[in-house]
Amino acid sequence: MSDPEPAAESPPNPSVRRVSDWDADRLAGLAADHGMPLYVQDLDRVRENCERLRDAFPDAEVRYAVKAHTGRAVLEAVREAGLDAECASAGEVDRALAAGFGGSRLHYTAVNPPARDLDYVVGVAEAEPDITVTVGAVDTLDRLAERGYDGRVCVRVNPGVGAGHHEKVRTGGAAKFGIPFDRAAEAARDAADRFDVVGIHAHAGSGIDPDQLDSHRELVARMGELTRELASPDDADADPLDLEYVDVGGGFGVPYEEDAPALDLPAVAEATREAVAPLPAGVDLAIEPGRYVVADAGVLLTRVNTVKPTPDERVVGVDAGMTDLLRPAMYDAYHPIRNLGGGRERDGSDPPAPDEREATPVTVAGPICETGDVLCRNRALADPVRGDLLAVGIAGAYGYEMANQYNSRPRPAEVALDDGTAAVVRRREALGDLTAVEREATPDRTDRTGRTDRTGAGR
Ligand SMILES: *Cc1c(COP(=O)(O)O)cnc(C)c1O
Repeated sequence: MSDPEPAAESPPNPSVRRVSDWDADRLAGLAADHGMPLYVQDLDRVRENCERLRDAFPDAEVRYAVKAHTGRAVLEAVREAGLDAECASAGEVDRALAAGFGGSRLHYTAVNPPARDLDYVVGVAEAEPDITVTVGAVDTLDRLAERGYDGRVCVRVNPGVGAGHHEKVRTGGAAKFGIPFDRAAEAARDAADRFDVVGIHAHAGSGIDPDQLDSHRELVARMGELTRELASPDDADADPLDLEYVDVGGGFGVPYEEDAPALDLPAVAEATREAVAPLPAGVDLAIEPGRYVVADAGVLLTRVNTVKPTPDERVVGVDAGMTDLLRPAMYDAYHPIRNLGGGRERDGSDPPAPDEREATPVTVAGPICETGDVLCRNRALADPVRGDLLAVGIAGAYGYEMANQYNSRPRPAEVALDDGTAAVVRRREALGDLTAVEREATPDRTDRTGRTDRTGAGR
């Protein structure tokens, strides 16, 4: 075991935890105990991230966008840290309830909501009348009214300003999300005839980074303007709305690249407060970070199983791919990768420790039959050998959450670290999990060996 860093040298709550900051021996131990591939999520780091957000935005309501990581242990840690839950589906509301969120701490944002989701949420609202439903289309309001809902509503506005690390997550300008800015005031006033309109909301997209602060400021300023117009309308015939909050969304970026600067959260908070001001008395600012809460609290561990020199590139095959971590394939996302070593040369000898090996450009590729299934291309890593353990960093947000079973690949296991103790919080799926929904749909189905599986138990 390496000696722990003296406490005085590391700040108590740094603005980012890099992949190089993780204890290599600890990760190697977890890999040996739990098999590959493996997600590791550190709840202590989740708590630190919550604390930094609350310190930077002391007067704001902070809501965790649950979709970044819905694991029960994470939700409980976030709830205990004092954040609310912002849910995007019935399934997320169900998880948030199970983790102890309730009443006014529960928010549901309906984007083209399936009937089943609305039925479920309206049912929940009977027991939890302080839940808020955020709505981005007048049709959705009608559908809520048809179900007898007359509770708390927040109107989602499309501010016409987008930000984000990739086109696919820039929501602020996409017509899919929210009521167009020019029609939002009227829609909110009309909604107040049927519902308790408590807030307005906009989410610009994901990835507010140091160089995108201007579009964030612009969105926030527009929302401040709309809040003032709703609270004291220019038109003397319009009724003022008694709003509780203006929610300016999430999208707080984290530095994926090793040398990218961390977001200056206090500066973003200051810019947000300035841009939204002056807020009418009684109206609070609200934010909805997802990624920022969980991203740097997670790593994905994967083992090198193949090293193949080719004329063009050195291909390092690993046992985790796009089904475990979709972001590189889907968004061309960069994730830092650290070689933790532990492998052997082909002749059986021990290679040098990773930090003594030559940095060599390699393409790290997963086991899926897709060209896009690579975690990085031609990136300089401490030259991997078969059996090495790689840690893929900043994998705690939209990592396990987007994992899927394409190529009939069972989803990985996840371990949570809590005050130094490790516990499996999501078991590794087995091959039998892949066919459970089929066997349960047709329980008499006979397999090719002539056996009939009526138990649904599979292997
Ligand atoms: C996804 C989402 C968020 C969180 O985005 P992050 O980039 O993870 O901070 C917040 N609000 C809404 C409505 C979202 O859909």
